[in-house]
Amino acid sequence: EFGEDEGDESEWQVRPPVVTVMGHVDHGKTKLLDALRNANVVAGEAGGITQHIGAYQVATEVDGSERKITFIDTPGHEAFTAMRARGSQSSDIAVLVVAADDGVMPQTVEALNHAKAAGVPIVVAVNKIDKPEADPTKVRGQLTEYGLVPEEYGGDTMFVDVSAKSGLNLEGLLEAIVLTADASLDLRANPNQDAQGLVIEAHLDRGRGPVATILVQRGTLRVGDSIVAGPAYGRVRAMLDEYGNELDEATPSRPAMVLGLSAVPGAGQNFIVVEDDRMARQIAEKRESRERAAMQAKRRV
Ligand code: GDP
Repeated sequence: EFGEDEGDESEWQVRPPVVTVMGHVDHGKTKLLDALRNANVVAGEAGGITQHIGAYQVATEVDGSERKITFIDTPGHEAFTAMRARGSQSSDIAVLVVAADDGVMPQTVEALNHAKAAGVPIVVAVNKIDKPEADPTKVRGQLTEYGLVPEEYGGDTMFVDVSAKSGLNLEGLLEAIVLTADASLDLRANPNQDAQGLVIEAHLDRGRGPVATILVQRGTLRVGDSIVAGPAYGRVRAMLDEYGNELDEATPSRPAMVLGLSAVPGAGQNFIVVEDDRMARQIAEKRESRERAAMQAKRRV
């Protein structure tokens, strides 16, 4: 019920890379995600992205053509870990943030090991380059010892010096992500099938009921589709993007806020589109009783 793209590979289309930002606490993950959100100039939306929806898409220009990138915007790398634990590949590329004044720290190593274990290519953002104590060369030397050899030293990892605070060289970082995706990944998906994907985060909104930010991984999700998301089900009543604009449809790698679910699904759970509401409810109920049985079995052990 969940998994591979369907149909003939020739029908698959290029999709944007999905990126998670990882790194040691206080090295600037939150600040960088904020800065990238505001630097999204190609999209032509004045004032940048206003909504916090758990993931957002930015556009950049590389070699004269417009390219999109999806960032998972959740604090820390909890989402990444939760999704990995559930066995679903959530991101295509990891941006490893290392503060240039602090250098490689325990969580830097932890994060790079996570990414390596998941087979996810890494782009290194050497952050806080605006600080007088910044030593980007030292960071390059330290990470080389962990197998991340900078391109300029003959390796295959792109290092980009940035300042999330001043906004310096964010375009360079976006370009490095696109180039890394082009060099080592073949990111394509079938937009012409029932949509499937992941729940990034979800909550109960007082006025709107359950609200889930989902990431479409394959297929196209449309308003009116019946979906099952973890134990929740329902018909997509409305979809919103990171600008708060209503969407009619969401194609692969697009994040969207979905309204209309019966309950709040968990981060990292998957969603699928099914034929109709009845089927959606049946599958959701089956999933729930299966989970309940698994819990009981665990308790007996
Ligand atoms: P996180 O724990 O990795 O999410 O780190 P934060 O984004 O919360 O940043 C930690 C601290 O470093 C905050 O006080 C930020 O303002 C500061 N900071 C982040 N990026 C930069 C930068 O590029 N330059 C300077 N000088 N400070 C930064």
